Amino acid sequence: MIVLKTSRELELMREAGRISHLALMAGVKAVQPGNTTMDVERAVRQTIAALGGKPAFLGYGGFPAAACVSVNEEVIHGIPSKRRRIQEGDIVSIDTGAIYKGFYGDNAFTVAAGATSDRCRELLEVTQKCLELAIQAAQPGNRLGDIGSAVEQYARSHGFGVVKEYVGHGIGSQMHQEPEVPNYGKAGHGQRLRPGMTLAIEPMINLRGDDVVKDSRDGWTIRTATGTPSAHFENTVAITENGPVILTRP
Ligand code: MG
Repeated sequence: MIVLKTSRELELMREAGRISHLALMAGVKAVQPGNTTMDVERAVRQTIAALGGKPAFLGYGGFPAAACVSVNEEVIHGIPSKRRRIQEGDIVSIDTGAIYKGFYGDNAFTVAAGATSDRCRELLEVTQKCLELAIQAAQPGNRLGDIGSAVEQYARSHGFGVVKEYVGHGIGSQMHQEPEVPNYGKAGHGQRLRPGMTLAIEPMINLRGDDVVKDSRDGWTIRTATGTPSAHFENTVAITENGPVILTRP
């Protein structure tokens, strides 16, 4: 069932989104050559605590951190580590969320550590643009397929792969609610978007190929099957009468 949110609930989600955004930006600042992925985790976790939120990811399904930190060919769900040192040219995806008074925010951003390759820079620009196009498609009266189609078409027009096994989601008083929000689909098809819906829209785009594999040792990290880099951008978005409103971008 898709839960529509009241204006009071949207206010709480806006605060959860604000905390999530500031935590994400603190993590982005910690992406420096020589830092570890645990330095990113620390920055995220401290920011959420300082703003009166609770980390949404810590303990979720047993996940051991407040942020997922995924480097290069890691797509999502990378576990922060004191042993993983960030190198010049790496691209680092950070995904984090906060809970405020029982409501959730969820967002992600990919950033290069120092100077990276032209191809990686293009991957970041295209994936960020995929998110923008997806949000523009999240108009009341449109359908879920309009969001997925916007992402897929733009990514493919640049020759990039689209992750299909992992998708965006409804969000609210739980981190994952209905509906699923795939990064592919047919325009004009699927669930109709209505005011009061809140969606975590999150394109995951690979330099090459759609396929991904899960790390069998840690049980979490998702990597591209080809070993080529991947990028991930995410916002929590409310569908309103007046169009989409980004809750994780104050
Ligand atoms: Mg999400």
